[in-house]
Amino acid sequence: MGTFLFDKIVFGPIKSRRLGNSLGINLLSTDIKVCNFDCVYCECGFSNKSRMAKEKFCDTGELFNQLERVLSSSDNETINAITYAGNGEPTLHPRFLTIAKKVKSLRDNYSPSSDIVLLTNGTTLNKASVQKAFESIDHILVKLDAGSDELIREINKPLSSFGIDKLVFGLMKLKTNIKIQSMFIEGTVNDVDISNTTEENVDLWLKWISLIKPDEVYIYSINRDTPILTLKAVELKKLEDIAKKVRKLGIKTIVS
Ligand code: SF4
Repeated sequence: MGTFLFDKIVFGPIKSRRLGNSLGINLLSTDIKVCNFDCVYCECGFSNKSRMAKEKFCDTGELFNQLERVLSSSDNETINAITYAGNGEPTLHPRFLTIAKKVKSLRDNYSPSSDIVLLTNGTTLNKASVQKAFESIDHILVKLDAGSDELIREINKPLSSFGIDKLVFGLMKLKTNIKIQSMFIEGTVNDVDISNTTEENVDLWLKWISLIKPDEVYIYSINRDTPILTLKAVELKKLEDIAKKVRKLGIKTIVS
């Protein structure tokens, strides 16, 4: 299957299953994925560590110019969300705090009804500058695809040390509202079954969800090309059954 990279800094707006009409901001390179995870289902393909070490991030001046141009254009269609997404982990940008403040100011000026949304894998939450940047973001969607470090290693393939306990306790300390987004998949990678939909794996994941107490949980499955052919999308009924378990915890849950 083919994978793809966003070839612009500001892209869309695109219709998002979760966010409506979403204008994307890609803070990473337009040539290569830049992420400290290497998820087996990543639509951007696999990480290339040697290339990642070189040209990695967008130019902030170019970003601000492009965003201002789009937001101020008179024939602009309704934009429900301005979303940090794109070719990797947005918070890795070394000027993420500066960017977050400026993007908020542009949103306030030109498109005050748009929400600012961050999609993140949560690995940089302990950085003070990233926490400060959260003050300029309306919705923070943190990835949590499994409830054990072993399965996280199989599915998300962190490129440096990662522990769910550190992520969850970091989230619990944040003074900001968090939503969790979880990708459910079935299948094998190198003959290892990495299905996170088994009862045991869902229960492990639920324990962390009950500790985080997020505002909302988004549950979804593959609907684009992935770099691995032995993965398959989870049927809707199974996703709904998982959602029911989360709702029993009193947490709003959306299957998309
Ligand atoms: S965290 Fe997102 S960008 Fe990074 S590898 Fe996973 S799916 Fe791809």
